[in-house]
Amino acid sequence: MWAGGDCVEVLNLVSGRYQHIALGTHANKQGLVMGTNIGGGKASFPGVVGTAVSKVCSVEIARTGLREREADAAGLAWEAAVIESTSRAGYYPGAAPMTVKMLAERGTGRLLGTQIVGAEGAAKRVDIAAVALTAGLTVDQMVFLDLGYAPPFSPVWDPVQVAARKLVGRVH
Ligand SMILES: Cc1cc2nc3c(=O)[nH]c(=O)nc-3n(C[C@H](O)[C@H](O)[C@H](O)COP(=O)(O)OP(=O)(O)OC[C@H]3O[C@@H](n4cnc5c(N)ncnc54)[C@H](O)[C@@H]3O)c2cc1C
Repeated sequence: MWAGGDCVEVLNLVSGRYQHIALGTHANKQGLVMGTNIGGGKASFPGVVGTAVSKVCSVEIARTGLREREADAAGLAWEAAVIESTSRAGYYPGAAPMTVKMLAERGTGRLLGTQIVGAEGAAKRVDIAAVALTAGLTVDQMVFLDLGYAPPFSPVWDPVQVAARKLVGRVH
């Protein structure tokens, strides 16, 4: 790789297609790869899963992987689930609503995408799904991920795993 940043297309590891995603997180990693190559080393950029986070006032918004129409365009058969949960254990002060939408491939259960909206702590939860996408995990495997739990941080079932549980019943 000799070019990177907003001027290049990247391989989406979920769809297998190249697409243009203009993000600083990609540009920085591509800079590492280009710098290594310019310095005489040999490095390549593996691709992305399409993770992005944002915040509007107090609302955090996050996505990773494919949305429905992107999964359709990639020719994938999918099922979706939407769940409502909270950012902390329900009884813990400051618990705020969180909505998680998740897509998985029909038949295999492979995770295809996740979107999260909520208050503080919602956006970076999408990183669980980003890692799962990169590793090619199924929603069945996600249900048993050993994620951290204590009441100030999460319900005992993390909202991402609640969504995965709901999808397990639909994809098979
Ligand atoms: C408002 C805003 C918010 C963003 N927030 C996020 C975020 O939260 N998270 C995220 O991941 N990404 C974010 N991005 C996207 C991110 O900033 C870009 O994807 C990233 O900076 C692209 O890096 P780059 O090196 O390709 O281009 P740039 O960072 O644009 O760097 C290009 C450089 O080339 C210089 N240049 C242009 N023409 C010439 C020339 N002819 N000769 C010499 N130099 C030249 C420019 O001055 C500039 O310094 C945001 C972008 C914007 C605009």
